[in-house]
Amino acid sequence: MKHLKSMTTEEIGQVLKTLGQPSFRAKQIFSWLHKGVKSYDEMTNLPKALRDELAQTYPIHAPEVVRKQISKKDGTIKYLWKLSDGNCVETVLMRYHYGNTVCISTEVGCKMGCAFCASTLGGLVRQLEPFEMLDQVLFTQLDSGLPVSHIVLMGIGEPLDNLTNVLRFLELVNNPEGMNISMRHISLSTCGLVPKIDALGDQKLQISLAISLHGPNNEIRNRIMPVNKAYPIEQLLPACRRYYAKTSRRIHFEYAMIDGLNDSVQNAKELLALLKGLPSHVNLIPLNHVEESPLKPSTKSAVAAFQKTLEDGGVTATVRRTLGSDIDASCGQLRRKYTKERTENG
Ligand code: SAH
Repeated sequence: MKHLKSMTTEEIGQVLKTLGQPSFRAKQIFSWLHKGVKSYDEMTNLPKALRDELAQTYPIHAPEVVRKQISKKDGTIKYLWKLSDGNCVETVLMRYHYGNTVCISTEVGCKMGCAFCASTLGGLVRQLEPFEMLDQVLFTQLDSGLPVSHIVLMGIGEPLDNLTNVLRFLELVNNPEGMNISMRHISLSTCGLVPKIDALGDQKLQISLAISLHGPNNEIRNRIMPVNKAYPIEQLLPACRRYYAKTSRRIHFEYAMIDGLNDSVQNAKELLALLKGLPSHVNLIPLNHVEESPLKPSTKSAVAAFQKTLEDGGVTATVRRTLGSDIDASCGQLRRKYTKERTENG
């Protein structure tokens, strides 16, 4: 099934050519689709016959809001969307001083199997189409009335497991005729698929790359991230260095602090050794407890000692503020809850 909303203006132009239509209409259609119209009848500058023809061959899909939760603490908004095939994904809008950031999902479910993550519990259902990622940004902005300036690909799914569609999404959302969001305002997070990190680096995009590291050695990483068996640290870190060499973009490392597992000062020292000479930034994230998991967040003092060790060693480290903790806002928790409720209620 082809979707005009996943196509570039040039590709829409090709479609129009086969319909005997002038190519200037491609720009009009692209612009309408990226404004979030839900029907061709809203495209008032297109001839009626063309609107009808397109509606037959290229139906416009838009996600429906299944649940919307607004944090009373910090205004974070979480959406659970229903896609046209009935599958659900989550999007979170976070309000920072520098602008509104949406965290989007890139797949329905995930096959990476990280021990602490709710998104992977039901496995991978399918990859998202480019327009389904765009729609999350577009309809979050339209529904909330809040202009989106930043995007993070840190929702459900592994973006590098869906690289072709993700690259197209980036091109679409960056287009000045569309949402026009700067590549420098976009971050992509990966659990560490080495060949795909290289492929992404070859694109030389100005996006930020974030690596979900969560452990400074193979022993720890193997315990919580199955991907480490395929791409261990001695392959992952050189890939990060190659990425930096190609893009000159500092690498962000995410590190979920798990009580007694990866949070000792010794672990922080190992991490320092690993990052030596690589321009990087470490985000320390106190683990968000997932019901199904025995893992617990680190204590405040362990987080502070870890951060201090990194800073003393010359690596900048921030402790991520937990936003939306009252609304199940971390990775896959809302979709998981919704699916479970539906299963339990038949
Ligand atoms: N698959 C990608 C992006 C999605 S997850 C990746 O692995 O990077 C976004 C971030 O949230 C990742 O760093 C992930 O490891 C982290 N995360 C998942 N579950 C978490 C939890 N329960 N507590 C803290 N961080 C979590």
